[in-house]
Amino acid sequence: MGNGEKTYRVRTYGCQMNVHDSERLTGMLEAAGYVPAAEQHTPDVVVFNTCAVRENADNRLYGNLGQLRPVKRQHPGMQIAVGGCLAQKDRSEITRRAPWVDVVFGTHNLGSLPTLLERARHNDEAQVEIAESLEVFPSTLPARRDSAYSGWVSISVGCNNTCTFCIVPSLRGKEVDRRPGEVLSEVAALVDEGVLEVTLLGQNVNAYGVDFGDRGAFADLLRACGGIEGLERVRFTSPHPRDFTTDVIEAMAATPNVCHQLHMPLQSGSDRVLRAMRRSYRCARYLRILDDVRAVMPDAAISTDIIVGFPGETEEDFEATLHVVRAARFAQSFTFQYSPRPGTPAADLPDQVPKDVVQQRYERLIAVQEQISWECNRALEQTTVEVLVSEGEGRKDAATRRMSGRARDGRLVHFDPGTAAVRPGDVIHTEITYGAPHHLVADMAPSAHRRTAAGDRWEAGRRPTTPGVALGLPAFGQPAEPAVEQAGCGSG
Ligand code: SF4
Repeated sequence: MGNGEKTYRVRTYGCQMNVHDSERLTGMLEAAGYVPAAEQHTPDVVVFNTCAVRENADNRLYGNLGQLRPVKRQHPGMQIAVGGCLAQKDRSEITRRAPWVDVVFGTHNLGSLPTLLERARHNDEAQVEIAESLEVFPSTLPARRDSAYSGWVSISVGCNNTCTFCIVPSLRGKEVDRRPGEVLSEVAALVDEGVLEVTLLGQNVNAYGVDFGDRGAFADLLRACGGIEGLERVRFTSPHPRDFTTDVIEAMAATPNVCHQLHMPLQSGSDRVLRAMRRSYRCARYLRILDDVRAVMPDAAISTDIIVGFPGETEEDFEATLHVVRAARFAQSFTFQYSPRPGTPAADLPDQVPKDVVQQRYERLIAVQEQISWECNRALEQTTVEVLVSEGEGRKDAATRRMSGRARDGRLVHFDPGTAAVRPGDVIHTEITYGAPHHLVADMAPSAHRRTAAGDRWEAGRRPTTPGVALGLPAFGQPAEPAVEQAGCGSG
């Protein structure tokens, strides 16, 4: 890099909340004068934004840190910072095991990163700073967004629930809500920049408002998003069945730019297991919510998270889960094999299910869900869908020239652009010719193509391209990295 500018690279692990936080970390580094390191360039600063949910997360982190040790020796002045959930959990253990790390910061003090790097450099000494409660709402920090057409907007952080498999409450703390005015200003500012699609983000979005005493706040927020001109798609993740009220369903149905897509974590189809998980709804209530949603939005694509092999899960419990999955007819399930996470109550429960049993149940569940997903997608053949064209998603198919994007209900669509000069950020309408289990295919030229300001920005090269940051936004309802082994983070 010229001009003596310091370069950085951020590596992100885990859920959408970490993707969101990494946009803030890169924004702050750039505000402090750092520039993204080119692919072939060794960065002056490497930041790991870690996840504590993934199995062996710590082994992976220390493996990565170990690889960087000789690199750092060859590049005097290079700095390594570790933040996120694992840093919040392990604290000074990180500098004890990897003394070449310069900075450790937690989930509550993202904003300290540039100062800590500077202090570590000046004092030539590692800086470990972990705050116990939120210092500044991350959304108020500068951001460098990864997409010209789609953005995450955080409405709350933390969670007041105590699901026994989940480490989020101990790492992210109690729920803190942003005020609606702030959220809406951020959404409006994104739309002014050309963004068409916004995902409202919180660990339990249906509890939004509890912090300022307004239980109807989330439904009101959805309706208010409907009044933002130019905002074409509103999504949210994740809701919680316990707090999912009819006013939210009514707001979804009555607000045209709110997408008919719902990611509603089930976790188990056995009431006995739900009780052991400390999930306060029961299956009958869960299925009633889905009926209510479909009564007013028959086209809603509903997805879920399910944990297989929670301690004490019997064959009968598992059969109950299969039963709910068949009844719910999810468009998609993100299915996780339970494995104990240190620091969670479930890790100490007796009757951990043997790994081979978990694996076998997992495969049976996947087979049932795949069949349902496939049937749902085949039912969309010969229908026309609106697609927001994306990049970095799906396959690059040189032979068929297919591009990819998301339908309004969140389904991944691979389409043939025909002769149209379609760009990421543009919107097309196209007919589905084939429904595969995990995506839709449209092999005829689009019936309509709308150029958008986001597409113009992408074409003009003004789209931010931060190497190393989350490598493109994940699909709605999906983890930032594929195959997270277990739910329990941002999963409602
Ligand atoms: S699983 Fe979701 S609702 Fe339960 S404690 Fe974790 S973040 Fe909260």
